[in-house]
Amino acid sequence: MSNPISRYLLVTLGFVGAAAIVSAQAREPDPVIDMHLHIETAASEGPPPLTICAPYPTWPSRDPSQGEDAYVQRLFGNPDCPRKFVSASSDDDLRIRSVAMLKKHNVYALGGGTPELVARWRQDAPDRIIPSLEFKLSEAPTLEKLRALHASRQIQAIAEVLIQYEGVSVSDPRMDPYFALAEELDIPVGIHMGPGPPGVGYFGAPEYRMALSDPLQLEPVLAKHPRLRVFVMHAGWPMLERMIALLYSHPQVYVDIAILNTAFPEPEFHRYLKALIEAGFGDRIMFGSDQMVWPELIEVALERIQKTPGLSREQKRAILYDNAARFLRIDPANALRPAAVLRP
Ligand SMILES: [Zn+2]
Repeated sequence: MSNPISRYLLVTLGFVGAAAIVSAQAREPDPVIDMHLHIETAASEGPPPLTICAPYPTWPSRDPSQGEDAYVQRLFGNPDCPRKFVSASSDDDLRIRSVAMLKKHNVYALGGGTPELVARWRQDAPDRIIPSLEFKLSEAPTLEKLRALHASRQIQAIAEVLIQYEGVSVSDPRMDPYFALAEELDIPVGIHMGPGPPGVGYFGAPEYRMALSDPLQLEPVLAKHPRLRVFVMHAGWPMLERMIALLYSHPQVYVDIAILNTAFPEPEFHRYLKALIEAGFGDRIMFGSDQMVWPELIEVALERIQKTPGLSREQKRAILYDNAARFLRIDPANALRPAAVLRP
């Protein structure tokens, strides 16, 4: 069969087929920056398997007459919720599935952990992971070591600063030399101010204090270090008014909405996010997954932002990419028009 009509049809079909392939290749999702990826071992949050709800429709209650195991079991053992995820089974499983998730959704991530582990993950995704140092005061490197890590490009940020779990305020004088160094090196600092796992003071971190979530505790730090590039991880939840007060008075401060967009009940996540946007801070809210040992949380967090009612495409893009690109002063996916990057 080679009459002109059938040849024409074949050519047309061939063209359509090629176009379909091109559009499939071009259908890479819009880029995302995840400001809150943990790079840790599979046992970092406790012996696996651990199960997390995304979201928890209600937070489990704790009966003080029972041992801590009973409560932890209700929270991470067999929690009561329709959508849950089981933690990775091994360090390799965690790394491989997390990196696959980054690639699948075109995510670039600020990845915080020990320099050794961050380097290992970056072997698998050198172009997708921006190296960051997870920081506890009790395990803090010396200033000299920090300088060396920065000089060798093993860290480009300090996050997550976890001193709240140690009962230490951001305004504690022991933190001052680190903030001074971050200011001098001009690297971002991300500080946990907000929720740990509910009730964590009873099972995981006895020194954790919710009162240290107060974003206004940052004021003396910012006054002393006006060039510090700081973001409040978890957006100071639930201290909304004080978070708004800090953002208003200190226009260089950004927030991320990690964990609110995974484990938190949908209405509460929407209420908090919308309140920050409606108060005028839609250009300083950044996406974060808070992926620890459950790789699927990256996907869940993205989905929940996309499905937040009432947000425009521009507002979602600002949260998912543009704001972080401006804060970090990078554009890893080369996705921004210059005007967007330069917007103050
Ligand atoms: Zn955190």
